[in-house]
Amino acid sequence: MKSISYGRQSITQEDIDAVVGVLHSDFLTQGPKIKEFENAFAQYVHAKYAVAVSNGTLALHLCMLAKGVKQGDKIITTPITFAASANSVLYCGGEVDFVDIDKNTFLIDLDKLEEKLASSEKGTYKGVVPVDLAGYPVDVERLRNIADKYNLWIVEDACHAPGGYFINSKGTKQFCGNGQYSDLQIFSFHPVKHITTGEGGMITTNNKDLYEKLLLLRTHGITKQPDLLHENHGGWYYEMQQLGYNYRLSDIHAALGISQLKRANKGIEKRKLIAKRYNEAFKNTSIKIPKVKNNFSHAYHLYIIQVKNRLELYNYLRKNSIFAQVHYIPVHLQPYYKQFGWKKGDMPVAEAYYEKCLSLPMYPSLSEEEQDFVIEKTINFLKNENKSN
Ligand SMILES: *Cc1c(COP(=O)(O)O)cnc(C)c1O
Repeated sequence: MKSISYGRQSITQEDIDAVVGVLHSDFLTQGPKIKEFENAFAQYVHAKYAVAVSNGTLALHLCMLAKGVKQGDKIITTPITFAASANSVLYCGGEVDFVDIDKNTFLIDLDKLEEKLASSEKGTYKGVVPVDLAGYPVDVERLRNIADKYNLWIVEDACHAPGGYFINSKGTKQFCGNGQYSDLQIFSFHPVKHITTGEGGMITTNNKDLYEKLLLLRTHGITKQPDLLHENHGGWYYEMQQLGYNYRLSDIHAALGISQLKRANKGIEKRKLIAKRYNEAFKNTSIKIPKVKNNFSHAYHLYIIQVKNRLELYNYLRKNSIFAQVHYIPVHLQPYYKQFGWKKGDMPVAEAYYEKCLSLPMYPSLSEEEQDFVIEKTINFLKNENKSN
């Protein structure tokens, strides 16, 4: 059997045709596919505005810039995330503070967040970056209430959760990225994510001011829009009004994204089926399977189990060509973050989570035969463990 990774892209002939179509067209970048992708994505997550960018990391950076993060600003995030969620704060000279995770959801612990804010001087923190880990949506309705009380903005790292949603207290469906509660939300289109453009990212928001700021920052801080210009010398005229960047996505990438997005819902359905099969297979074992609250719909970017002998299972699966993965090594324990004084013991729930977490293969094109193989090998491992104990 060929090797099975924890996640992978699926590319169809339609995707390939879409990309080739752009190559034959007049615009490889700054053409019509960008807006088309942005509109389709905004519609998919039920947001007003979307801004396509070169990748998810830069999406976070642009959000920090749009929220005006500067030297010394303190921002809170979770230690169980990809480093980029925190790094984006550092890019702007800000400081990262962590709040430990909830022991059931593995998402940022909102009780602990509230305690921290209540015991800090007002105005200490500027914003919070919640992460929808594995595809489990953060309760941003509750988070918004907390954030409003302490005057914080919310930049939601929703890289794992396009298509995920929860039912809010009024009984309405709230899709991740819909801009209802978070100021800004970001997504990544790296090949392991739900939909891919190779490299790529998206920011969504319902705030027109932020949207316009993002557009400006994405293209060097340059605008040609007549109503925004201070002067106008003619058709060639543009103004650089801010220090921006080139964080654009190309039309080649966008065309792939548009094509992929058409299958996004099917992909989620497939992921849910795989999760259901795994849940069923592991329910009477020592493995802890993901538990999801009733009013939440998990997008299953990852299927993360908790298992006692994680290293041994990881190695055993590898020997059988199954490449499980660990998400994540706590960010505060990375050498780069330790220089700021973070150490083992600071985030006990996150650290305990890290000791046991393992992401099993989860992607729409994972065949039933492959799922069965993963299940069989995992169960085999558990049986042998029992014997040797
Ligand atoms: C993938 C990912 C990112 C970064 O996205 P890139 O497109 O790889 O830059 C940020 N945060 C989380 C949680 C991610 O999974």
